[in-house]
Amino acid sequence: MNTDVIDHDQAAADALAAEKKAAHEINKLSKRLHRQVGQAITDFNMIEDGDKVMVCLSGGKDSYSMLDILLNLQQRAPIKFSLVAVNLDQKQPGFPEEVLPAYLKSRGVDFHIENQDTYSIVKKLIPEGKTTCSLCSRLRRGILYRVAGELGANKIALGHHRDDIVTTLFLNMFFGSRMKGMPPKLVSDDGKNVVIRPLAYVKEPDLVRWAEHREFPIIPCNLCGSQENLQRVQVKAMINEWEKRYPGRIDNIFTAMGNIVTSHMMDKQLFPFETVKATGEADAGGDIAFDDDESCATPSPASSVITLQR
Ligand code: SF4
Repeated sequence: MNTDVIDHDQAAADALAAEKKAAHEINKLSKRLHRQVGQAITDFNMIEDGDKVMVCLSGGKDSYSMLDILLNLQQRAPIKFSLVAVNLDQKQPGFPEEVLPAYLKSRGVDFHIENQDTYSIVKKLIPEGKTTCSLCSRLRRGILYRVAGELGANKIALGHHRDDIVTTLFLNMFFGSRMKGMPPKLVSDDGKNVVIRPLAYVKEPDLVRWAEHREFPIIPCNLCGSQENLQRVQVKAMINEWEKRYPGRIDNIFTAMGNIVTSHMMDKQLFPFETVKATGEADAGGDIAFDDDESCATPSPASSVITLQR
């Protein structure tokens, strides 16, 4: 037989196999994303029957994925809740204002675009060369809280994921001397809204792949001209470098955030050190003196563990 024909047949078979493999990978990714988001919602009781969830959409991969997954879960959930997508158009130069409405119409989603020129306010108030992010996010936060009230939403969903949460923990430790991450569910600082993070269990690389697969019309995130917070960039690079050298490390840190052994930390508000007395009873969660802590992979007894589900 002609070798050209054999080569051609082989190439076609290889292409078919590659296509099948890619479809299988995407199917696995889709199942994982929906399972993780569903699990986070359940674990932290993020969404309840009758809720109206305001989904904050920036036009980046994370918020598009969040909306996409929530829309799918809404169809299959045993409870009824509604979703309204909200984008704050901050009037940054070059913001393609037609992109999000066109996408949202194509998905048949209820949506609201809030037009507020925070860009000019920030430019006017912050001297050239200084970081604009803190004022910008404060303004954005206030606007989004107000819009949630106006739309009758009782939950505000943000697209932060597992890697954001771990990065925040280290930022707070390194620069704020506090062990504080990013909560999956908490009342907002104005006391009027409940903020939820349905992507809390999701890894960032999975969101990158999902956004490519779903071909979301991504809006660039550097339109304001401000550099992303440098400290966050550095901490994220540090964590990703660890993950490369020791795969699974980010997951371990993330899991640890839900397994806090208060008796082995130093926060007097969380553990009553002043009342500690010998009981005469053996306790596996007690001090093991000079030995290495080999039980660190095993969650300690419930009495001294705070889970994030409190
Ligand atoms: S990067 Fe730009 S849009 Fe984002 S918070 Fe900072 S100033 Fe605001």
